[in-house]
Amino acid sequence: MEGSRLSGIGMTSARTRERLVQRLMEQGILDSRVLDRIRSVPRHLFMDEALATRAYEDTALPIGFGQTISQPLIVARMTEALLAAGTPKKILEIGTGCGYQTAVLAPLIEEIYTIERIASLLGRARRSLRELKIRNVNFRHADGNLGWVARAPYDCILLTAAPHDVPQALLDQLGLGGRLIAPVGPEGHQELLRFTREEAGIRREALGAVSFVPLLSGLQR
Ligand code: SAH
Repeated sequence: MEGSRLSGIGMTSARTRERLVQRLMEQGILDSRVLDRIRSVPRHLFMDEALATRAYEDTALPIGFGQTISQPLIVARMTEALLAAGTPKKILEIGTGCGYQTAVLAPLIEEIYTIERIASLLGRARRSLRELKIRNVNFRHADGNLGWVARAPYDCILLTAAPHDVPQALLDQLGLGGRLIAPVGPEGHQELLRFTREEAGIRREALGAVSFVPLLSGLQR
């Protein structure tokens, strides 16, 4: 398999990845399931080859179409927040992008539904996940503001792009006890929030300041 993007070339070396895992631990990521995924998902596979040497830096990087692959620390923090109160079985992800967050989640969750509004990115994510033999992900080219009603309710809904306010349609698709995790607010003033659907209504917790691309409307080829 020499020359394959999946093979062990220098930049993907165990040592480089371990350094990233160490950094995330120093930043307070404790869940070993999350750290193991960061260690084993080949992040370079989700990026243009020109940027692949930077794949194990803890930073967001461009993936085309004005979008980014999320910073590993943020992916780890969101995954940890999502696993915190028991492992959800069925989740809806809004903003597939390159599919990195999806790949981190895949073996930890039974059923994943993911929506992306840019068709080209969705196609690329589909190919990358297939290459990694990940098969429990259902993809949809659609506007995530509306959710995926036909498959609701979800144990968890994860947004990887920031709305100014969480769409009510998404909160409505949470099952009882379900959690929605989203960066919320205008660029430069976003906070990671976790909403939990309880008998009495929706509970809201703030998990810290973050910086994400905005949640947009409509579709793009
Ligand atoms: N999850 C990715 C990061 C994605 S960046 C990762 O792991 O790196 C956010 C993504 O949300 C972009 O690809 C953007 O096109 C998408 N997006 C923005 N608004 C959307 C919407 N309304 N519906 C679906 N996807 C949306």
